[in-house]
Parts: sequence; C-alpha cells; structure tokens
Amino acid sequence: MASSRLPVPNSTTSFWRSKPLSLDDHRTTAELPKKADVVVIGSGYSGASTVYHMLKMYEEKGLPIPSVVILEARQVCSGATGRNGGHLKPDPYVRPAEIAVTHGYEAALECANFERAHVPAVKKAIDEEGIDCDFVLTRCCDVLLTEDVASKLRAGVNMLRKAGLPTVVEDVYDGAAMDPKAAEQLSGVKGAKACFTYTAGHIFPYKFIHGLLNKCIDKYSVNLQTHTPVTVPIPAGPDPSDGRIPVTTARGVIRAQRVICATNAYTSSVLPEYSSRIVPVRGICSRIIPTNPATGPLQMSYIIRSSSTAYEYMIPRLDGSIIIGGARSEYLDKLDEWYDNVNDDALIPSVSNFFDGYMQRHFKGWEESGATTDRVWTGIMGYSSDNQPHVGPIPGRQNQYIIAGFTGHGMPQIFLSAKGLADMIVNGSQFKATGIPRLYQTTSDRITATTNATLELWKSNMSDLKSRL
Ligand SMILES: Cc1cc2nc3c(=O)[nH]c(=O)nc-3n(C[C@H](O)[C@H](O)[C@H](O)COP(=O)(O)OP(=O)(O)OC[C@H]3O[C@@H](n4cnc5c(N)ncnc54)[C@H](O)[C@@H]3O)c2cc1C
Repeated sequence: MASSRLPVPNSTTSFWRSKPLSLDDHRTTAELPKKADVVVIGSGYSGASTVYHMLKMYEEKGLPIPSVVILEARQVCSGATGRNGGHLKPDPYVRPAEIAVTHGYEAALECANFERAHVPAVKKAIDEEGIDCDFVLTRCCDVLLTEDVASKLRAGVNMLRKAGLPTVVEDVYDGAAMDPKAAEQLSGVKGAKACFTYTAGHIFPYKFIHGLLNKCIDKYSVNLQTHTPVTVPIPAGPDPSDGRIPVTTARGVIRAQRVICATNAYTSSVLPEYSSRIVPVRGICSRIIPTNPATGPLQMSYIIRSSSTAYEYMIPRLDGSIIIGGARSEYLDKLDEWYDNVNDDALIPSVSNFFDGYMQRHFKGWEESGATTDRVWTGIMGYSSDNQPHVGPIPGRQNQYIIAGFTGHGMPQIFLSAKGLADMIVNGSQFKATGIPRLYQTTSDRITATTNATLELWKSNMSDLKSRL
C-alpha cells in the first residue's frame, strides 16, 4: 500500500498543463476562511462540475447562494483531469455487456445511456458558458488487433443488439466487424481484425475545468484555495459545539456545514473507509507530433486494443498533434509500477520508448510522417474495486458526500453524476430520482465488500499470459 495517498509534489507536466492558466495557483483570499457552507475537496472534473451544477441550481430556484470553498492540494486541475487523454468516449458496449451479465440489461442500459448523454451535456455547458476548450464531436474507432479480442467484443455487441440496447442499435456501426480488409480500410490501422465506430468527443480538459471554475468564482463568489491539502481524515460527524464539520488542512482548519469529497484516487486520505475501495492506479500518456507536412489529419478518435486489458486511446488534436495514452502491455505484469501508486512525479519505468514510432507502426500511410514523441507524462486514476464510481451521501457520515472512483473513465461519467449529486444537495432529491445509474450509488455494502475486480482481472491475465508462454 502506498505510504501516503496525498498528491505528491513535482508532478510530471502534461501537455494540457504545459501553459498554466490564470487560476493555476489561485487563492481567492490570502487566508483560508474559517468557515463555509460547503467545502469541496478537489478541483478536478468532479469538484468543479459539482460546484457548477450546485450553484446554478440554487440560482435557478431563486435560493440564496451558499458560501463554497474549494480546497485543492496542488495546482488547479492538476490531478487526473489535467493529465488525461481528453477522450470523451461513452462506452456503448464493452462495460455494458459486462454489466448485462453481472447485473442485468436494465442496469446496463442505465449506464450506457447515462454515458451517451454526456457528449451533448458537456457540449451544451461549453456553449452556454462560452468556454474555449477545443471541443470536437467525432466518431471513435474501436480497433481490435487480435481475433481473440474481436470475437469477445462482437459477442457483447450482438448480445446487446439482440436485447435492443439503444446505444448499440442506434449508434454503433459494425460494418467492419467481421471483415479484416474492411476494418483496415475503415480504421487505417495495419492488421486490424475488426472495428466498430460510435459517437464520441474530445476536449482540452484543463481548459474546460478552468472555464467552469472561472464562472463559479466570478458569478457565485466561490473561494478557491490551491496548495491547500486536507491532511487529516474528516470526522464522521459535525462538532457538537457548532454543528459544523472541521476540515483540517496544511493551512489551518475550516468548519463546514457540508463536505463534498471530489478526491478521486486520493479519497482514502480524507475518507479511510474507502482505502481498499478506491485505489490509486498510475497511467501514462503522451503527445505525438507528425513533422512531415504531407501527413493528413486522423478523421476519428481511436481505441486500439491488443487484448482485453491492453489498449491505447488516442485523439487527434486540431493543432495536428495526437494525444495517445495506454502502453499497458509494457508494464501490466509489474504491479508495483502502477497499482496503489500515487507517483505522478515520475514516468513508468517499463514504458521507455513505447510511444516513439507508434503512429508509424500502426497507421497505414504514416510511415513517412516523421511522427515524434513531444512529451510523456503520468497521472493517477481512482480505480474502484467493483469498477463503478462512488457517488452520493456517504453512509455513516452526516452531511458528507462523495463523487470519486471513476476507474480511468470519468470523462463520460462525471458531469451528469455531479449534476445528480447537486440535485441531492440542493433539492434533497433521492438518489433514484437523479438519473445517476444505480450501480454508482455509494452504499455500506459496497464500502465493506472485500472483492477487488482490478486485482482479480490482473491475476487472471497474468495466469493466462503464463499459460501461453
Ligand atoms: C493518464 C490518464 C489518462 C486518462 N484518459 C482518460 C480519457 O481519455 N477519457 C476518460 O474518460 N478518462 C480518462 N482518464 C480518467 C479521468 O481523467 C478521470 O476519471 C477524471 O479526470 C477524474 O476526475 P476527478 O475530478 O474525479 O479526479 P481528479 O482530476 O484526480 O481530481 C481530484 C483532485 O482532488 C485533489 N485532492 C485529492 N485529495 C486531496 C486532499 N486530501 N486535499 C486537497 N485536495 C485533494 C487532487 O489534487 C486532484 O486535483 C485518464 C486518467 C489518466 C491518469
């Protein structure tokens, strides 16, 4: 287990954060306020979206705007959101097929529809708030490089199609699912055995979050305090002396009526009961630049799968560069390099030159692209031990909420989870009425469970690998 689950200093610099924006080291007031109506811990996608939705709802209802303080351990949006792949890619069939088997079609449908709704919801917020963050609506091409992974995914798509799952029936194009020639032609990827395409988006995540936070500070007088880690677990209940929850930071104590933990991988630093439920998992990402001007832009975003657990995700940026993350095939067998690891201050040792020549190796016509690696960085994801995020009021704690554990897939899950959480806080809505998938609800059973889907999958992969050697 990692000795400290607080964000580490001196993190690697992602492409997104290579030019810090105005709020990067922002402190709205020089001193930490002594109290607030709501304290939000974390200034990533979860924290910023929750504050945004919450205050918008108070305003729309004509209610007084509460005082909100956001506490951020490092710079604004310096966690996973500021170092991810920028891929807003709802999953229409991989996770839904797994959920259909474990929890039934209704639960699978809820998750798939919820994710799909994120693309228009994020686009709407970007338009309404006038946030300049390079949003692109596109198709994601899911390329399957082995017959093994192709047949597994085909089976899932067929099962969901037979059940009439709208995300698959209406959106997934599978014309190249059976024919490798067609798959290579459609995807442009050498050796593709099959591919599917479906609606997705991509954005500049740091600019999006910065835009939301700017709005919250300007319009709703939110107080943002960067470089202010919460250093002590939050007590389960309010202090009887004033009915407030004391939140202890490196810069003093702030007393809150309500606390929202948007702490993702680092959740156990403030809520120890989640320590085996949301585990920090290190990932790696890169930016590639083609140097030959004749290289045409990619027309889609991509997932390129060499097995069920090893894949790359990829978005083409409007500046001609490409963001690629993944490289799991290089390090998956070395558990300590990625599991329970908060070290985004270093690259993953086993991933040396993986991204160099990636485009030339995989894409037809890119052999002379001169594509070179511009930058590589790491980031820490919050892996939930049952693969589902934890959202909602925290069992056994009064006036405390969680939105965390997005298991490396938060872009199409967080914005509307945050809206649902805001609905619970502002309107007192029950979880069921918010539209958040039932599987996301944080419950005592989930918190006290002892199974660990991440490690189970890892172990089965390792034994599978050994049996093939
Ligand atoms: C390399 C990489 C690539 C990824 N690519 C994609 C992708 O392409 N598509 C996709 O859907 N998802 C992707 N993800 C996952 C996605 O980035 C996350 O699901 C999402 O950003 C989580 O947002 P968040 O706000 O919950 O967490 P974070 O962005 O990690 O924010 C949590 C914040 O809380 C702060 N914090 C934590 N503890 C404390 C404390 N005790 N005191 C004060 N502050 C604290 C942290 O500093 C951090 O800023 C990727 C993740 C990584 C690491």
